[in-house]
Amino acid sequence: MKHFRYMDGVATLKLDTETCIGCGACVEVCPHRILELCGKKAIILDPDACMECGACATNCPVRAVTVTPGVGCASYLISVWLHRLTGRKVDSACC
Ligand code: SF4
Ligand code: SF4
Repeated sequence: MKHFRYMDGVATLKLDTETCIGCGACVEVCPHRILELCGKKAIILDPDACMECGACATNCPVRAVTVTPGVGCASYLISVWLHRLTGRKVDSACC
């Protein structure tokens, strides 16, 4: 999944830099290194590589980062891959 990418501009990931307190939790938990600390604020490096797992939002103490896991096209593509690998249908709310 290191080079995971999907369609540009459709990820639901959002960051409110005004609210961010720069704790770094989102940077630590993101499996794709999409977030980084720049000074005392988080920044989004590559939103199109976000798999919408929700780990950043779950671990943000001030809800500065939000994402809607399971409804974006990342979820749909993962479902398609799992279906191809396992032959089993995996539900996705996308589209
Ligand atoms: S939703 Fe997951 S992949 Fe996307 S930025 Fe947050 S932790 Fe990283
Ligand atoms: S977890 Fe929230 S408060 Fe902490 S750096 Fe990330 S966005 Fe900012």
